[in-house]
Amino acid sequence: MKYARPRGTQDILPPDVFVWRRVESVFDETFESFGYEPVRTPVFESTDLFLRSVGEGTDIVSKEMYTFTDRGGRSLTLRPENTASVIRAYLESGMHRRAGTTRVSYIGPMFRYDRPQAGRYRQFHQVGVEAIGTLDPSIDVEVIDVVMSGLERLGFSGLDVRINSVGCRVCRAAYGVILRRALGAVKDELCSDCAERAKRNPMRVFDCKHCTGLTGDLPRISDHLCDECGAHFEKVRSYLQSLGRANEHDPTLVRGLDYYTKTAFEIVHDSLGAQNALCGGGRYDDLVEQCGGPSTPAVGFSAGLERIISVLPQGITDEANAETHTDVYVACVDEVSAGRALQVAAVLRRYARVEMDVTARSLKKQLKGAEKSGVAVAVIVESASPGVVKWKDMAGRTQVEIEDERLADYAGKNLDKLKRR
Ligand code: AMP
Repeated sequence: MKYARPRGTQDILPPDVFVWRRVESVFDETFESFGYEPVRTPVFESTDLFLRSVGEGTDIVSKEMYTFTDRGGRSLTLRPENTASVIRAYLESGMHRRAGTTRVSYIGPMFRYDRPQAGRYRQFHQVGVEAIGTLDPSIDVEVIDVVMSGLERLGFSGLDVRINSVGCRVCRAAYGVILRRALGAVKDELCSDCAERAKRNPMRVFDCKHCTGLTGDLPRISDHLCDECGAHFEKVRSYLQSLGRANEHDPTLVRGLDYYTKTAFEIVHDSLGAQNALCGGGRYDDLVEQCGGPSTPAVGFSAGLERIISVLPQGITDEANAETHTDVYVACVDEVSAGRALQVAAVLRRYARVEMDVTARSLKKQLKGAEKSGVAVAVIVESASPGVVKWKDMAGRTQVEIEDERLADYAGKNLDKLKRR
C-alpha cells in the first residue's frame, strides 16, 4: 500500500458508520428535547483563542495542538476542543445580546497530538452542549442530565458520575498558595512534569498518573471553597439527588482545561480501562469575559464518540445495522432495458431504499445477490416483457406482473406495508 491513514486517525466505514449515524442522531434528538440548538464552527481557529482559553500551562496547549502557519502568515490551530470556538462564535455573532440562557449543541471532529492508544486518538469526535448565561446550579444539573439522558437512550445504565468543585478565581487563588506550599514539601518526589505544574498550574498535579502516591495527602480544593462556591456545590448535589441521579464526590477531579470554575464532572465506564472517561464537563464562568465579552456564566460537557461507541450496548448496534438494508433491488437483465430500469428505480425511490444492479450479471446471479443482501422485494425489468415489471416478494417467494402505469400506485401500497412488517 502506498498510503496509509495518519497515525491516531480512523476510517469509519460501513457497517460501523451506520452505528455512528445512529449514535449521533440519538444525541441530536436528546439535545433538541432539552431545547439546545445545534451550531457548527470551523475546525480551525486562530491559535491565540486556545492559548488564552484552554490555558498555556495545560497539556493540550503545551504538547498536543496541531498548529500551523497558513499562506497568509497567520498561526492557526485545529481545534483540540470546541468550547472556546463556541464562545468565540457566540460573541462574534452577537448571541450574547439575547436575554436568558443560550443553549447550543455541537458534534464534530477534534484534534490532539496525543500518544495513540486504546480510546485515545489524534482525530476524535465529540458531542457536547454549552448553556451560556445562567449561574443557577440547576443549569449545571441540566447539563449532566442531558448527557446522561443521551447515554440512557443509547441503552447505557449504571454509569458513574464523578463530581467536584474546582472553585472560583477567588478561592482557587487562596487554595493555590496552600497547595504550592504542600507541593514544595514533596518537590523532590514529583515527576518532571509535575515539578513544572507546581509552579504554573498546581491543581493539574491531581491528574498525573505518575504522582498518584503523593496526591492522596495533598490539601484538596473542596476543603477550601469560598462560601459561594461551597453553597453552589451543595445545591448541585442536592438537585442531582432530587432527579435521582447518583453521583460520587471525587475531590481529586480537576479536569485538564484551565477555564473550569465551580462544578467539574466526568462520566466513566468501568470497562474502558485507563481511558475510562466517556464525558467531561463543568462550569466556566470566566471564559466569555476572557474572550472579550461581558462577564457571563456558562456550563457545558463534551463526550467522546469513539469511547461511547467502543462500549455501546448491543441493542443499539443491532438497530443501526437493521436500518442499513436496502428495501428493493431492481434487476435489469439486458442493456436495452437499462433506461427503463432507471425510470423504475426512480419511481420506487419515492417509497423505499432502492439499489439497482448495473453489473449485467445473469438474472439468477442478480437474484441471488438480492437475497443475500436481505432486500424485501426484487423488481425485474427485461426487454422480453415490455410495459410490465416482475415484482418478486423475497420473503413470500411470490411473483406478480405489474404494468408500468400501475407501478407507482402498487409500490406505494406494498412498500409501505413492508416497512411495517
Ligand atoms: P476533554 O475535552 O479532555 O474534557 O475530553 C472530553 C471527552 O472527550 C473525554 O471524556 C473522552 O471521551 C473524549 N476524548 C478526549 N480526548 C480524546 C482522545 N485523544 N481520543 C478519543 N477521545 C478523547
